[in-house]
Amino acid sequence: MHYQPKIDLARGTITGAEALIRWNDPDRGLIPPAQFVPFAEDCGLIVPIGQWVLREACGQARAWIDAGLRPIPMAVNISAVELRAKDFFGGVCGILKDTRLEPCYLELELTESVLMRHDALSISVLLALKAMGVRLAVDDFGTGYSSLSYLWRFPIDTVKIDQSFMVEISTNGDAATFLRAVISMCKTLKKRVVAEGVETREQLAFLATERCSEGQGYYFSPPVAAEHFAQLPYRE
Ligand code: C2E
Ligand code: CA
Ligand code: CA
Repeated sequence: MHYQPKIDLARGTITGAEALIRWNDPDRGLIPPAQFVPFAEDCGLIVPIGQWVLREACGQARAWIDAGLRPIPMAVNISAVELRAKDFFGGVCGILKDTRLEPCYLELELTESVLMRHDALSISVLLALKAMGVRLAVDDFGTGYSSLSYLWRFPIDTVKIDQSFMVEISTNGDAATFLRAVISMCKTLKKRVVAEGVETREQLAFLATERCSEGQGYYFSPPVAAEHFAQLPYRE
């Protein structure tokens, strides 16, 4: 697993970590998730892989707390297949218990398509997790249908604005307007908002002007190994 920080843009402090999986192949080196997660989703292997990811990420969050670092939420990406798998809820409960991690330090990142399925099973699982104190985030916001209904139907804590908007703000006025509107809407709805894919000083300046609370991207740090994450500035 690699971990990428989310940054409080006003203070420069780390507000959370996102766990991102890599496949370490002895011959080919680190293989990015885009090259194997879709296949794992198709064949169902994402279910055991996802349980492994959750256990690693929660265990790492616990290890950092035990080492005396300031507790921060650990975000884990969850596929639709995982959410609908048998006893996902029980799996999460068991992992939190085994790793002794308080539920408020786990955040599940779900894409819009997962939330828009409206299937009763996924909804009840998410509501049960939320009731336990686990946090929920919408990932890649603005790339799917971006239905607003789930933002108020679901107890979503965090909205992550897709990185494609960051790429376009300097060249496309519409992207900047959209971003401004989403930031303002999230504030009104009292959701945390994280801009993904922050790479340049100019993008950071735009976000600061629009009073976006958090950002994530190569400008601050790429995803790094756990030992490296613990040494990032503003981590303690
Ligand atoms: P995502 O959840 O949207 O994660 C953000 C991706 O953007 C990561 O790619 C990250 O390395 C990359 N990124 C971060 N900052 C920047 C930036 O400033 N510029 C650019 N261009 N990219 C940036 P990564 O690690 O290759 O992951 C790709 C996708 O694979 C993730 O997108 C997520 O959907 C999926 N994924 C990763 N780990 C897991 C996992 O454990 N389980 C599941 N189900 N999916 C995962
Ligand atoms: Ca994510
Ligand atoms: Ca994303």
